Formats: sequence, structure tokens, C-alpha cells
Amino acid sequence: MRRIAATVLILLGAFAPVWIIDWSHVPAGADYSDGSDVFRSPRFDSAYFAVDRSDLPPPAGSVLARRVKVKPGDTLAEILTQNRVSKNDAQAALAALTKVYNARNIKPGQEVEIAFVNFNTEAGNSFNRVTLHPSVQTEIHVRRDEDGGFTAEQTEKTIERRLHAVSGAIEESLYVSAIKLGVSANVLMDMIRMLSWDVDFQRDLHPGDRFEVMYERFYTDTGKFVRTGDVLFANLILNGKGHPIYRYADRSGQPDYYDAMGASARKALLKTPIDGAKISSTFGSRHHPILGYTTMHRGVDFAAPTGTPIFAAGDGMVEMRDRDGAYGNYIRIRHNGEYATAYAHMSRFEPRIARGVRVRQGQVIGYVGTTGRSTGPHLHFEVLQQNKQVNPMSVKMPVGTKLAGTDLDRFAQQRARIAATFDRLINPSAQIAANP
Ligand SMILES: [Zn+2]
Repeated sequence: MRRIAATVLILLGAFAPVWIIDWSHVPAGADYSDGSDVFRSPRFDSAYFAVDRSDLPPPAGSVLARRVKVKPGDTLAEILTQNRVSKNDAQAALAALTKVYNARNIKPGQEVEIAFVNFNTEAGNSFNRVTLHPSVQTEIHVRRDEDGGFTAEQTEKTIERRLHAVSGAIEESLYVSAIKLGVSANVLMDMIRMLSWDVDFQRDLHPGDRFEVMYERFYTDTGKFVRTGDVLFANLILNGKGHPIYRYADRSGQPDYYDAMGASARKALLKTPIDGAKISSTFGSRHHPILGYTTMHRGVDFAAPTGTPIFAAGDGMVEMRDRDGAYGNYIRIRHNGEYATAYAHMSRFEPRIARGVRVRQGQVIGYVGTTGRSTGPHLHFEVLQQNKQVNPMSVKMPVGTKLAGTDLDRFAQQRARIAATFDRLINPSAQIAANP
């Protein structure tokens, strides 16, 4: 506050004759708070340019600047020329700018700072600098250089990483409760995606359950929030049982999430959900044996005798169990928000398997047959990623890995550090009491 008052005094002192002459034009609500060389006003109005008169001596070295918010449809050239930058200067500045930034990328709401030096000299010479803020981290300056031309420069602000921890009760849903406590939606989606291999968010959550999460938040050196980063730790406490996952980069540098024992949070899906079967038709376009023309085969066929048991490729919930046209007897299992698997042409379903039933990996769900559009007994198996069939043999399906050796040791250290940091952030007073 004291600095602001001093700034006002310096400005008033420097331009005392001018301010007195044009006092009536000083805009109401003018804001002088941006530092000793910056003048801000809500409008670019006559008070600012009252000094632009040849009969007054220039206030040597003074720089005055103002900020303009980009409005829809504005071009940078217009913004400059509408704010007293001459056409020639605007053109020269824009030409310099193209070396680091495409002026067409300015967006409504961004701030453009326009600065003048000795602005009561001839108008064409007073424009000194324009600064753009394409993102919170990035600043672009186009400055007048010694030759009278312009030079553009892009600077990245250093950003500071802070860890942020949240712990709370799950009331209506994890989503609603976490958002209420300020967890951003993208952090929450990451958390749900990683935990969804273990937890069925439709069924396993009950009122009274709790969640914990710790993630990165990035700030500029002036303390302005930039963005969230990675989730380092997440936990759901359901009926008193924790389901923690920890972020850990293995020795090859590949980051992933692991449970407390070092097992990958992503569970593997079986690529061959049937015992001792041979692939009889692969994924891709093929000449269809019944239809007689080339079609896209969106699954893998395994030839096996009628009655051979078919296993669930992974833990999940039976989303569909029905007679479905060309598919014949068909089951689809949802494994998480991203993956589902489907099984077709079954002779019969395993009796307990019905829509909505939870299955474990390897559990028998039905038996090979030749129902629907089929020339002989086989299992038609599909992997669906984001509800689209993908090639089960080449899709980068999750592999359920378990850390071992050095990686497991490093993981254990990382897990302990994460847990200690989380406790300290959630309960700072306990930490002070422990370390007086
Ligand atoms: Zn098939």
C-alpha cells in the first residue's frame, strides 16, 4: 500500500503541470497500482494523453503503459492503432513479432500492455513496447531497439511446484464431494481412471467412505496459480479398507501408479480368454465366409470345440448378457471407464452370470458354441477401448506388472516419502507438536 501511495506521488510530481491543466479529465477509478513506471486507467482516455503537447517539456525517461483486454474480433494491429500507436510503428512491431508469435493467436480476454516513453515528443517516436501474455507462464515483449526498429523476445516465467493434499468424506459421490473441497476436475478424472481398475464407482461407494488425494499445483513467482500437475497419491477408504495408489517412475523413467505392495494399479487383461485354443481369424479386413464379400473383422476368433469354457479377461461387471443377432449368445464385461471385452457365439452362458454381476479375472462366464452368424464352433473375442473395437493382439493393453528388486526398494522409499508429505500437509499441527 505504501508503495502505491509513493507511486501516485511520483506520478503526480512528474506531471504536476499537466495534471493541473487537465484535472477534469482524470478518469474516475484510475488505478496507479502497477509499479513505478506503469499507469493504468480503465479507458485510454484524454487524461493520459493530456501531456502530448509540444509546448511542454518531455518528462525525461518516463514510461507510461496501459493494459488493454482483447475483445472478440480484435486484431493486434487494431488494438495498437486505436491506442495511439502510429500505423508505421504498429506494422514494424507486428513484423518483429512474427518471429516469435503469430499475432492471430491472440484471444479475447488476454491482456496487451502498451508502453510509451517520453510520450509528449512526436507521437511516432513515443511508442516503446508492447507486451502480450499468451499464457500465465509466457510473456512476449516487442521493444523498440536503439536503431528505432523493433525486436521481439519471448520469456518463460519460472514456475514453482507445490504439493496440495485433500482429505474428505464422500457424501453423494466422490465427484461431488471432491469438487466441493476444491479438487479440480482433471485431477479427479486422473484419480478415478487409476482407481477404477480396483473400485467400481457405481457400486462400491457408500456414504461415510473417505477419499484422499495429493497432487501438484504450479504457481508463477508472483504466486499466481498456473495449472495442476500429476496426482502423486490417491486413496479411497471404503468400509474401513484403504485402496491407496502411488505414482512412481521405474528405473526406465516410465511413471505409473502402484498399490502399497508395488503391484501396478492397471490390471492386465487376458489376451486369450480360453484354454488351449488356436486363433482361427485375426482382427482386420477379410473375405467373410458367410457373407461372401470383404468385411472388417473387429475381433479375434479362437477355434475350439463346443462346450469349451470361456474366461472373463479381467475383473469387471457384466454389462450385457443376451442373444444379439449375428453375435449369437453374447456377453460384454466392463473392466473400467476405458476398457470392455466382448464374447460371442457361445453355446450357453454360465448360469450365475447375469447383467450387473461382478466377475473376477479367469472366472468362467460361458461356453464355446456357434450361435449367430458362425460357420463352426469358435469364440469371437473383442476388446473395446472407449467403446470402439481395437485389435486385442496389438492394442497397448495394460500389463499388470509387479515391481521387484531395486525398483521395489526405490518404490518403498518413494511411498514412505509420499505418505509423510501427505500427513504433514493434511495435519500440519500434529507435525509441529512432534517437532517442537
Ligand atoms: Zn469373429
